Amino acid sequence: MMRAQWDVIVVGAGPGGSTAAARLAQAGVDVLLVDKERFPREKPCSDIYGPFGARTYEELGVYERLLEAGYVYPGVLLSSPDYTAIYGANGKGLTCPRRVGDNILKENASRLGAEVWEEFWVHDLVVKDGQVRGVRAKYQGEFRDYRCDVVIGADGSHSWVAKRLGLFVDDYDQVYLAGRAYWRGCSPPLRDVEVHYDPSFNPGFVCLSPHPGYDDVVNMGVGIQMSQYGRLSLNAEEMVEKFVAESPHGEKMRGAERVSDWTGWRVPSAGQIGKNYAAGAVLVGDAGNFVEPFILEGVASAVRSANYAARAVLAALEERDFSEDSLSRYGEKWEKKMGPQLRALQGMAVTAADADALNGLFGGLKDDPEAVSRVFGE
Ligand SMILES: Cc1cc2nc3c(=O)[nH]c(=O)nc-3n(C[C@H](O)[C@H](O)[C@H](O)COP(=O)(O)OP(=O)(O)OC[C@H]3O[C@@H](n4cnc5c(N)ncnc54)[C@H](O)[C@@H]3O)c2cc1C
Repeated sequence: MMRAQWDVIVVGAGPGGSTAAARLAQAGVDVLLVDKERFPREKPCSDIYGPFGARTYEELGVYERLLEAGYVYPGVLLSSPDYTAIYGANGKGLTCPRRVGDNILKENASRLGAEVWEEFWVHDLVVKDGQVRGVRAKYQGEFRDYRCDVVIGADGSHSWVAKRLGLFVDDYDQVYLAGRAYWRGCSPPLRDVEVHYDPSFNPGFVCLSPHPGYDDVVNMGVGIQMSQYGRLSLNAEEMVEKFVAESPHGEKMRGAERVSDWTGWRVPSAGQIGKNYAAGAVLVGDAGNFVEPFILEGVASAVRSANYAARAVLAALEERDFSEDSLSRYGEKWEKKMGPQLRALQGMAVTAADADALNGLFGGLKDDPEAVSRVFGE
């Protein structure tokens, strides 16, 4: 008979869900981590596991494994629409294909004691007396209920858990379209991560990330607010083509050949972050709108939000109190620890909408690499 009762069920085994499950398993909690996909699976991304997640990977004993599979880039180069470039050194951020890195994080959660079930599709929540008590899912061909004290919604940008809780938000000024493809033949080879706010489609940007261990391909893609994208005459692929043809920063890609299909996804920025807990449930990562709004890094934010969610869930389990009030400690914690940085980057995203203002901002930062490192690299 299939087991149907757990302390915690984590929906989604991306960086957010795997981190939450690993933390809880490490603390001795009976946790089930589920994902609708079979891993290794793809996730459209520029493949940057940003530096602000590194301490968590170290604490969970998985950073070395990520290092073996990935590449620590020396720094981040950013440019504004008048091509003013700023540079900051990187600390422990790395690039690694998400297919590889996310699988490492998921396996680590399993190593630490989380039960992991794949091809497990959550399609609803079990709710009783106003409190979430589990999930409804299709697994191994059967639709069933799986009960628990707390559900952690880590099911990404289109989060079914958030929708079912009535916490899904979709403000087109704060939601971005991002797409990417892989290219071979960058000359000279790319070593830094680069983010270029281009004059042709401001405030959209092109991101390039290096993969020396993977045939030296370059992951190149775009990010732009949904509301702006609708007004542009260029589609995402044409934006990148224009950048390569016209920008001095695109020159190194002029002889490169695309070696993968384009893939894109919805990116919910923290510009629309709000309540992300309810009685018996919390939302982490993209499900909770944690993507930093300036260069759209969401992996490290997912990992950090998962840390705070796991702490709040541990306290709730100890007190046997799964009310909204009890889980509101999650909201307080992430707000205190992540709120200031997310708001500062939201301020930069607002500035980016005005090309002159962004040129002025970068002009001011150009001679202050330490400030750039603090924001993007440390
Ligand atoms: C083109 C692009 C480039 C990006 N580049 C970067 C970058 O370089 N660095 C960065 O930090 N961020 C980047 N981001 C954002 C980043 O990809 C996300 O913020 C990050 O993946 C969030 O992690 P997560 O764990 O919250 O969700 P995800 O990684 O999306 O994981 C969610 C998981 O939930 C599972 N799931 C969904 N629904 C269900 C269901 N009903 N039942 C069971 N399982 C379910 C999915 O299969 C998935 O495995 C980029 C985004 C895009 C689109």
